[in-house]
Amino acid sequence: MTRVFNFSAGPATLPVDVLQQVQDELLDWQGTGMSVMEMSHRGKAFVSIAEQATETLKTLLNVPDNYKILWMQGGATGQFSAVPMNLLRGRDTADYVVTGSWGKKAVKEAARYCSAQTVARPVDDKFTHVPDRDDWTLNPEAAYVHYTPNETIEGVEFPDVPDVGDVPLVADFSSTFLSRPIDVGRFGMIYAGAQKNLGPAGVTIVIVRDDLIGDVLPQTPTVLDYAKVADGESMLNTPPCFTWYVCGLVLQWIQRQGGLKAMAARNAAKAGKLYAFIDASGYYRNPVKPEHRSWMNVPFTLPDAALDADFLKGAEAAGLSTLKGHRSVGGMRASLYNAMPEAGVDALVDYMKEFAKKNG
Ligand code: PMP
Repeated sequence: MTRVFNFSAGPATLPVDVLQQVQDELLDWQGTGMSVMEMSHRGKAFVSIAEQATETLKTLLNVPDNYKILWMQGGATGQFSAVPMNLLRGRDTADYVVTGSWGKKAVKEAARYCSAQTVARPVDDKFTHVPDRDDWTLNPEAAYVHYTPNETIEGVEFPDVPDVGDVPLVADFSSTFLSRPIDVGRFGMIYAGAQKNLGPAGVTIVIVRDDLIGDVLPQTPTVLDYAKVADGESMLNTPPCFTWYVCGLVLQWIQRQGGLKAMAARNAAKAGKLYAFIDASGYYRNPVKPEHRSWMNVPFTLPDAALDADFLKGAEAAGLSTLKGHRSVGGMRASLYNAMPEAGVDALVDYMKEFAKKNG
Protein backbone atom coordinates (compact mmCIF):
# COMPACT_ATOMS: atom_id res chain seq x y z
CA MET A 1 0.00 0.00 0.00
CA THR A 2 1.32 3.45 -0.89
CA ARG A 3 -0.33 6.52 0.55
CA VAL A 4 0.53 9.88 -0.95
CA PHE A 5 0.59 13.22 0.83
CA ASN A 6 -2.77 14.55 -0.29
CA PHE A 7 -3.00 18.35 -0.32
CA SER A 8 -6.61 18.46 -1.56
CA ALA A 9 -8.78 21.33 -0.31
CA GLY A 10 -11.66 18.95 0.30
CA PRO A 11 -12.68 16.21 0.43
CA ALA A 12 -9.32 16.01 2.08
CA THR A 13 -6.82 13.72 3.74
CA LEU A 14 -8.03 11.84 6.84
CA PRO A 15 -5.95 10.45 9.72
CA VAL A 16 -4.56 7.03 8.82
CA ASP A 17 -5.42 5.76 12.32
CA VAL A 18 -9.06 6.55 11.64
CA LEU A 19 -9.07 4.89 8.24
CA GLN A 20 -7.53 1.79 9.81
CA GLN A 21 -10.15 1.71 12.53
CA VAL A 22 -12.87 2.04 9.87
CA GLN A 23 -11.28 -0.84 8.00
CA ASP A 24 -11.10 -3.00 11.13
CA GLU A 25 -14.74 -2.35 11.97
CA LEU A 26 -16.09 -2.38 8.45
CA LEU A 27 -17.69 -5.80 8.27
CA ASP A 28 -18.73 -6.15 11.89
CA TRP A 29 -19.15 -3.06 14.02
CA GLN A 30 -18.55 -4.06 17.65
CA GLY A 31 -20.18 -7.46 17.45
CA THR A 32 -23.37 -6.33 15.70
CA GLY A 33 -22.51 -8.47 12.69
CA MET A 34 -23.04 -5.59 10.30
CA SER A 35 -21.25 -2.47 9.11
CA VAL A 36 -22.34 1.00 10.14
CA MET A 37 -23.44 1.51 6.51
CA GLU A 38 -26.06 -1.18 6.94
CA MET A 39 -27.58 -0.16 10.27
CA SER A 40 -30.93 1.43 10.91
CA HIS A 41 -30.38 5.01 11.99
CA ARG A 42 -33.08 4.44 14.62
CA GLY A 43 -31.34 1.39 16.12
CA LYS A 44 -29.53 1.41 19.44
CA ALA A 45 -26.10 0.92 17.89
CA PHE A 46 -26.25 3.87 15.52
CA VAL A 47 -27.96 6.14 18.04
CA SER A 48 -25.06 5.51 20.42
CA ILE A 49 -22.52 6.29 17.66
CA ALA A 50 -24.34 9.53 16.84
CA GLU A 51 -24.71 10.64 20.45
CA GLN A 52 -21.09 9.95 21.21
CA ALA A 53 -19.91 11.97 18.22
CA THR A 54 -22.02 14.94 19.33
CA GLU A 55 -20.74 14.63 22.88
CA THR A 56 -17.11 14.51 21.75
CA LEU A 57 -17.62 17.58 19.57
CA LYS A 58 -19.26 19.40 22.46
CA THR A 59 -16.35 18.60 24.74
CA LEU A 60 -13.64 19.44 22.21
CA LEU A 61 -15.09 22.82 21.30
CA ASN A 62 -16.35 23.50 24.80
CA VAL A 63 -19.81 24.28 23.41
CA PRO A 64 -21.95 26.05 26.05
CA ASP A 65 -25.21 24.34 27.12
CA ASN A 66 -27.39 27.00 25.51
CA TYR A 67 -26.27 25.97 22.02
CA LYS A 68 -27.64 23.19 19.82
CA ILE A 69 -25.28 21.01 17.80
CA LEU A 70 -27.00 19.87 14.60
CA TRP A 71 -25.86 17.37 11.99
CA MET A 72 -27.37 18.56 8.73
CA GLN A 73 -27.16 17.85 5.00
CA GLY A 74 -26.88 20.08 1.94
CA GLY A 75 -23.34 21.25 2.65
CA ALA A 76 -22.20 24.69 3.63
CA THR A 77 -23.92 25.76 0.41
CA GLY A 78 -27.24 24.67 1.91
CA GLN A 79 -26.45 26.86 4.92
CA PHE A 80 -26.05 29.89 2.64
CA SER A 81 -29.88 29.61 2.39
CA ALA A 82 -30.62 28.13 5.81
CA VAL A 83 -28.90 31.00 7.62
CA PRO A 84 -31.20 33.78 6.37
CA MET A 85 -34.26 31.49 6.50
CA ASN A 86 -33.69 30.79 10.19
CA LEU A 87 -31.97 33.88 11.49
CA LEU A 88 -33.77 36.82 9.88
CA ARG A 89 -36.51 36.47 12.51
CA GLY A 90 -38.71 39.29 11.30
CA ARG A 91 -35.87 41.53 10.13
CA ASP A 92 -35.22 42.13 6.47
CA THR A 93 -31.55 42.90 6.36
CA ALA A 94 -28.30 41.06 7.11
CA ASP A 95 -24.65 42.15 6.91
CA TYR A 96 -21.94 40.19 5.07
CA VAL A 97 -18.19 40.67 5.34
CA VAL A 98 -16.70 39.32 2.12
CA THR A 99 -13.05 38.27 2.12
CA GLY A 100 -13.09 35.74 -0.72
CA SER A 101 -15.02 33.54 -3.12
CA TRP A 102 -17.12 31.68 -0.53
CA GLY A 103 -18.25 34.85 1.18
CA LYS A 104 -19.29 36.16 -2.24
CA LYS A 105 -21.44 33.08 -2.78
CA ALA A 106 -22.95 33.35 0.70
CA VAL A 107 -24.10 36.94 0.23
CA LYS A 108 -25.47 36.20 -3.25
CA GLU A 109 -27.61 33.36 -1.93
CA ALA A 110 -28.81 35.39 1.06
CA ALA A 111 -29.94 38.14 -1.31
CA ARG A 112 -32.71 35.77 -2.45
CA TYR A 113 -34.31 36.10 0.99
CA CYS A 114 -33.45 39.55 2.29
CA SER A 115 -31.57 42.73 1.73
CA ALA A 116 -28.10 41.21 2.10
CA GLN A 117 -25.55 43.99 2.47
CA THR A 118 -21.87 43.64 1.76
CA VAL A 119 -20.44 45.73 4.57
CA ALA A 120 -16.77 45.11 3.89
CA ARG A 121 -15.03 43.82 0.79
CA PRO A 122 -11.55 44.58 -0.56
CA VAL A 123 -11.39 47.03 -3.46
CA ASP A 124 -11.29 45.30 -6.90
CA ASP A 125 -12.04 41.99 -5.17
CA LYS A 126 -8.36 41.55 -4.43
CA PHE A 127 -8.83 38.95 -1.75
CA THR A 128 -5.42 39.14 -0.13
CA HIS A 129 -6.32 40.57 3.27
CA VAL A 130 -9.13 41.16 5.76
CA PRO A 131 -10.42 44.75 5.46
CA ASP A 132 -9.65 46.84 8.52
CA ARG A 133 -12.40 46.45 11.13
CA ASP A 134 -12.75 50.26 11.42
CA ASP A 135 -13.83 50.40 7.77
CA TRP A 136 -16.76 47.97 8.10
CA THR A 137 -20.11 49.74 7.78
CA LEU A 138 -22.18 47.57 10.11
CA ASN A 139 -25.90 48.13 10.48
CA PRO A 140 -27.10 47.79 14.11
CA GLU A 141 -30.54 46.75 12.76
CA ALA A 142 -29.15 43.80 10.79
CA ALA A 143 -30.44 40.36 11.79
CA TYR A 144 -26.87 39.05 11.87
CA VAL A 145 -23.32 39.65 10.61
CA HIS A 146 -21.91 36.84 8.47
CA TYR A 147 -18.24 36.23 7.71
CA THR A 148 -15.93 33.47 6.50
CA PRO A 149 -13.13 32.88 9.04
CA ASN A 150 -11.06 31.09 6.41
CA GLU A 151 -11.43 31.55 2.66
CA THR A 152 -10.43 28.19 1.22
CA ILE A 153 -9.64 29.39 -2.31
CA GLU A 154 -7.68 32.59 -1.59
CA GLY A 155 -6.09 31.38 1.66
CA VAL A 156 -7.21 34.40 3.71
CA GLU A 157 -7.89 33.72 7.39
CA PHE A 158 -9.07 35.97 10.22
CA PRO A 159 -6.48 35.88 13.01
CA ASP A 160 -9.22 36.35 15.62
CA VAL A 161 -12.97 36.69 16.04
CA PRO A 162 -14.19 40.18 15.03
CA ASP A 163 -16.19 42.27 17.48
CA VAL A 164 -19.59 43.14 16.02
CA GLY A 165 -21.36 44.36 19.14
CA ASP A 166 -24.79 42.95 19.96
CA VAL A 167 -25.74 41.72 16.49
CA PRO A 168 -25.42 37.90 16.32
CA LEU A 169 -22.21 36.84 14.60
CA VAL A 170 -22.53 34.00 12.07
CA ALA A 171 -19.50 32.22 10.62
CA ASP A 172 -18.86 29.76 7.82
CA PHE A 173 -16.10 27.76 9.47
CA SER A 174 -15.99 25.08 6.75
CA SER A 175 -12.27 25.07 6.06
CA THR A 176 -10.90 25.97 9.49
CA PHE A 177 -13.32 24.14 11.79
CA LEU A 178 -11.40 22.34 14.58
CA SER A 179 -8.04 23.76 13.46
CA ARG A 180 -7.74 25.70 16.76
CA PRO A 181 -9.88 26.41 19.84
CA ILE A 182 -12.70 28.92 19.37
CA ASP A 183 -14.90 30.68 21.88
CA VAL A 184 -18.30 29.45 20.68
CA GLY A 185 -20.03 31.87 23.07
CA ARG A 186 -18.93 34.78 20.86
CA PHE A 187 -21.10 33.49 18.01
CA GLY A 188 -24.82 33.38 17.32
CA MET A 189 -24.18 30.47 15.03
CA ILE A 190 -21.39 28.66 13.26
CA TYR A 191 -21.50 26.10 10.48
CA ALA A 192 -19.04 23.91 8.63
CA GLY A 193 -19.08 21.23 5.96
CA ALA A 194 -17.37 18.06 7.20
CA GLN A 195 -15.05 17.31 4.33
CA LYS A 196 -11.95 19.17 5.51
CA ASN A 197 -11.08 18.72 9.18
CA LEU A 198 -14.02 16.64 10.36
CA GLY A 199 -14.51 13.66 8.08
CA PRO A 200 -15.88 12.54 4.73
CA ALA A 201 -18.31 14.73 2.77
CA GLY A 202 -22.00 14.43 3.60
CA VAL A 203 -22.70 16.22 6.85
CA THR A 204 -22.68 19.86 7.80
CA ILE A 205 -22.29 20.88 11.42
CA VAL A 206 -24.46 23.71 12.71
CA ILE A 207 -23.94 25.10 16.22
CA VAL A 208 -26.61 27.64 17.03
CA ARG A 209 -27.65 29.56 20.12
CA ASP A 210 -31.04 28.51 21.48
CA ASP A 211 -32.63 31.95 21.52
CA LEU A 212 -32.03 32.43 17.78
CA ILE A 213 -34.11 29.51 16.57
CA GLY A 214 -37.78 28.81 16.04
CA ASP A 215 -39.02 31.68 13.88
CA VAL A 216 -38.24 30.75 10.28
CA LEU A 217 -39.33 32.19 6.94
CA PRO A 218 -42.60 30.46 5.98
CA GLN A 219 -41.13 28.74 2.91
CA THR A 220 -38.27 27.11 4.89
CA PRO A 221 -37.95 23.40 4.08
CA THR A 222 -38.41 21.29 7.21
CA VAL A 223 -34.92 19.79 6.83
CA LEU A 224 -33.39 23.29 6.98
CA ASP A 225 -35.40 24.44 10.00
CA TYR A 226 -32.94 24.47 12.92
CA ALA A 227 -35.61 24.15 15.61
CA LYS A 228 -37.21 21.16 13.89
CA VAL A 229 -33.85 19.51 13.21
CA ALA A 230 -32.96 20.02 16.88
CA ASP A 231 -36.29 18.53 18.02
CA GLY A 232 -35.69 15.53 15.77
CA GLU A 233 -32.17 14.99 17.20
CA SER A 234 -30.75 15.64 13.70
CA MET A 235 -32.69 12.62 12.42
CA LEU A 236 -35.78 14.14 10.85
CA ASN A 237 -34.87 12.11 7.84
CA THR A 238 -32.20 9.47 7.25
CA PRO A 239 -28.82 11.03 8.08
CA PRO A 240 -25.57 10.09 6.28
CA CYS A 241 -24.86 7.47 8.96
CA PHE A 242 -21.48 6.32 7.75
CA THR A 243 -20.14 9.87 7.47
CA TRP A 244 -21.43 10.70 10.95
CA TYR A 245 -19.66 7.62 12.33
CA VAL A 246 -16.34 8.49 10.66
CA CYS A 247 -16.63 12.07 11.95
CA GLY A 248 -16.99 10.64 15.44
CA LEU A 249 -13.76 8.69 15.00
CA VAL A 250 -11.95 11.79 13.72
CA LEU A 251 -13.16 13.72 16.76
CA GLN A 252 -11.79 11.01 19.07
CA TRP A 253 -8.51 11.14 17.10
CA ILE A 254 -8.29 14.90 17.74
CA GLN A 255 -8.83 14.22 21.44
CA ARG A 256 -6.02 11.67 21.42
CA GLN A 257 -3.72 14.24 19.79
CA GLY A 258 -4.28 16.55 22.75
CA GLY A 259 -7.37 18.45 21.59
CA LEU A 260 -7.68 21.76 19.78
CA LYS A 261 -4.77 23.50 21.50
CA ALA A 262 -2.45 20.78 20.30
CA MET A 263 -4.02 21.00 16.82
CA ALA A 264 -3.42 24.76 16.79
CA ALA A 265 0.24 24.37 17.72
CA ARG A 266 0.76 21.76 15.02
CA ASN A 267 -1.11 23.77 12.40
CA ALA A 268 0.78 26.97 13.18
CA ALA A 269 4.08 25.11 12.91
CA LYS A 270 3.19 23.43 9.61
CA ALA A 271 1.90 26.59 7.93
CA GLY A 272 4.71 28.70 9.39
CA LYS A 273 7.29 26.39 7.88
CA LEU A 274 5.76 26.53 4.40
CA TYR A 275 5.24 30.32 4.37
CA ALA A 276 8.76 30.92 5.67
CA PHE A 277 10.15 28.79 2.87
CA ILE A 278 8.00 30.52 0.21
CA ASP A 279 9.00 34.00 1.40
CA ALA A 280 12.69 33.18 1.57
CA SER A 281 12.74 31.32 -1.74
CA GLY A 282 12.78 34.37 -4.02
CA TYR A 283 11.04 32.00 -6.44
CA TYR A 284 7.59 31.13 -5.11
CA ARG A 285 5.07 33.75 -4.04
CA ASN A 286 2.06 34.00 -1.76
CA PRO A 287 0.15 37.28 -2.14
CA VAL A 288 -1.70 37.31 1.20
CA LYS A 289 -0.85 39.84 3.90
CA PRO A 290 1.22 37.88 6.47
CA GLU A 291 -1.15 38.41 9.42
CA HIS A 292 -4.11 37.16 7.36
CA ARG A 293 -2.50 34.07 5.92
CA SER A 294 -4.42 30.83 6.29
CA TRP A 295 -3.09 27.94 8.34
CA MET A 296 -5.22 25.57 6.32
CA ASN A 297 -4.91 26.57 2.66
CA VAL A 298 -1.66 27.95 1.29
CA PRO A 299 -1.89 29.24 -2.29
CA PHE A 300 1.36 30.01 -4.09
CA THR A 301 2.55 30.81 -7.58
CA LEU A 302 5.64 29.98 -9.60
CA PRO A 303 7.50 32.79 -11.41
CA ASP A 304 5.99 31.67 -14.72
CA ALA A 305 2.62 29.90 -15.08
CA ALA A 306 4.10 28.00 -18.03
CA LEU A 307 6.00 25.93 -15.43
CA ASP A 308 2.84 24.87 -13.56
CA ALA A 309 2.23 21.66 -15.50
CA ASP A 310 5.82 20.48 -14.96
CA PHE A 311 5.64 21.33 -11.27
CA LEU A 312 2.45 19.31 -10.84
CA LYS A 313 3.75 16.35 -12.82
CA GLY A 314 6.93 16.17 -10.76
CA ALA A 315 4.96 16.58 -7.55
CA GLU A 316 2.67 13.66 -8.38
CA ALA A 317 5.72 11.55 -9.15
CA ALA A 318 7.12 12.47 -5.72
CA GLY A 319 3.91 11.39 -3.98
CA LEU A 320 2.62 14.94 -3.46
CA SER A 321 -0.95 14.96 -4.73
CA THR A 322 -3.63 17.54 -5.62
CA LEU A 323 -1.55 20.72 -5.46
CA LYS A 324 -3.24 22.50 -8.37
CA GLY A 325 -4.70 25.84 -7.29
CA HIS A 326 -8.36 26.65 -7.71
CA ARG A 327 -9.18 27.50 -11.33
CA SER A 328 -10.26 31.03 -10.33
CA VAL A 329 -6.84 32.00 -8.91
CA GLY A 330 -4.47 29.63 -10.73
CA GLY A 331 -1.07 28.57 -9.42
CA MET A 332 -0.85 26.03 -6.61
CA ARG A 333 -2.58 25.44 -3.32
CA ALA A 334 -1.38 23.22 -0.50
CA SER A 335 -4.11 22.43 2.01
CA LEU A 336 -2.64 21.55 5.39
CA TYR A 337 -5.62 20.31 7.38
CA ASN A 338 -5.29 18.64 10.78
CA ALA A 339 -4.60 15.22 9.29
CA MET A 340 -1.65 16.42 7.16
CA PRO A 341 1.47 15.39 9.07
CA GLU A 342 4.45 17.71 9.33
CA ALA A 343 6.34 15.15 7.24
CA GLY A 344 4.02 16.09 4.35
CA VAL A 345 5.08 19.73 4.62
CA ASP A 346 8.73 18.71 4.81
CA ALA A 347 8.38 16.57 1.69
CA LEU A 348 6.64 19.43 -0.12
CA VAL A 349 9.32 21.96 0.84
CA ASP A 350 12.06 19.55 -0.29
CA TYR A 351 10.37 19.10 -3.64
CA MET A 352 9.82 22.85 -4.08
CA LYS A 353 13.50 23.51 -3.30
CA GLU A 354 14.63 20.98 -5.91
CA PHE A 355 12.22 22.32 -8.51
CA ALA A 356 13.36 25.91 -7.99
CA LYS A 357 17.00 24.86 -8.25
CA LYS A 358 16.37 23.05 -11.52
CA ASN A 359 14.19 25.71 -13.08
CA GLY A 360 15.34 28.95 -11.46
N1 PMP B 1 -17.61 27.61 2.40
C1 PMP B 1 -16.30 27.35 2.40
C2 PMP B 1 -15.39 28.23 3.18
C3 PMP B 1 -15.80 26.26 1.67
O1 PMP B 1 -14.50 25.99 1.66
C4 PMP B 1 -16.71 25.44 0.95
C5 PMP B 1 -16.26 24.22 0.18
N2 PMP B 1 -14.98 24.20 -0.26
C6 PMP B 1 -18.06 25.77 0.96
C7 PMP B 1 -18.47 26.85 1.71
C8 PMP B 1 -19.07 24.95 0.23
O2 PMP B 1 -19.21 23.76 0.88
P1 PMP B 1 -20.12 22.56 0.38
O3 PMP B 1 -19.46 22.02 -0.85
O4 PMP B 1 -20.10 21.63 1.54
O5 PMP B 1 -21.47 23.10 0.09
